[in-house]
Amino acid sequence: MTHPTIEPIKAFSDNYIWLLHDGRSAYVVDPGDAEPVLQALQERHLQLEGVLITHHHPDHVGGVVALKTETACTVWGPHNPSVPQIDQRLGEGDSVDVLGVKWQILEVPGHTLDHIAYVSAGAVFCGDTLFAGGCGRVFEGTFPMMRQSLAKLRRLPPETRVYCAHEYTLSNLAFATSVAPDDAAIQRRLADCQRLRAADEPTVPSSIQEECSSNPFLRWDDPAIYQALTLHDKAATDDHDAVFAALRQWKDNF
Ligand SMILES: [Zn+2]
Repeated sequence: MTHPTIEPIKAFSDNYIWLLHDGRSAYVVDPGDAEPVLQALQERHLQLEGVLITHHHPDHVGGVVALKTETACTVWGPHNPSVPQIDQRLGEGDSVDVLGVKWQILEVPGHTLDHIAYVSAGAVFCGDTLFAGGCGRVFEGTFPMMRQSLAKLRRLPPETRVYCAHEYTLSNLAFATSVAPDDAAIQRRLADCQRLRAADEPTVPSSIQEECSSNPFLRWDDPAIYQALTLHDKAATDDHDAVFAALRQWKDNF
């Protein structure tokens, strides 16, 4: 089964609403705003069939009411009653069929408690959990919970493309270079992404392989990261949760 086309719709200052379509029918992931989605559908002559939600934040669900009114689409999302527009609730092990492709649900709490990710062969919609070169802030969960969620994503096949919800890559990689100034993979990636952004191109999707090699937030068990934290008096032990928490707190104040 080949994937339908996946392309980004830009929203607000740095959100990506992912559009999946087969030339006729469409789904969108995390429509924080309805207007750019309706415009993209019109330009491409697409009928919106469904919406996939990763978590309850307004910049991910703000357009849902208007899209339902305009298109009568079906909405899938997490078990969170604060988003009453969700028609079909999904949890760990559930799946949803989108244009002939099956997407499995992983629960990835931490950024929020309701956060889920959609995984198919070759792609993941991970919302605000894993970013290119970084990860989401831990708002509702705990640091160990967030690390476990990132560990689930890290275990996906290396070639899996990572469709995150924001263009945060340059600031994430700026932080990554401060943590690991001598890391060649991070430097290469930063240069590549600077070129892309200079041409107003998205830096996403990335891949799990790319994240494993140049995203410090997936390297809680890498001695080089622990060493960097020690050098800056940030971590007391090399315990995986302590390393991850120290890194996330450092970035919060970066
Ligand atoms: Zn969020």
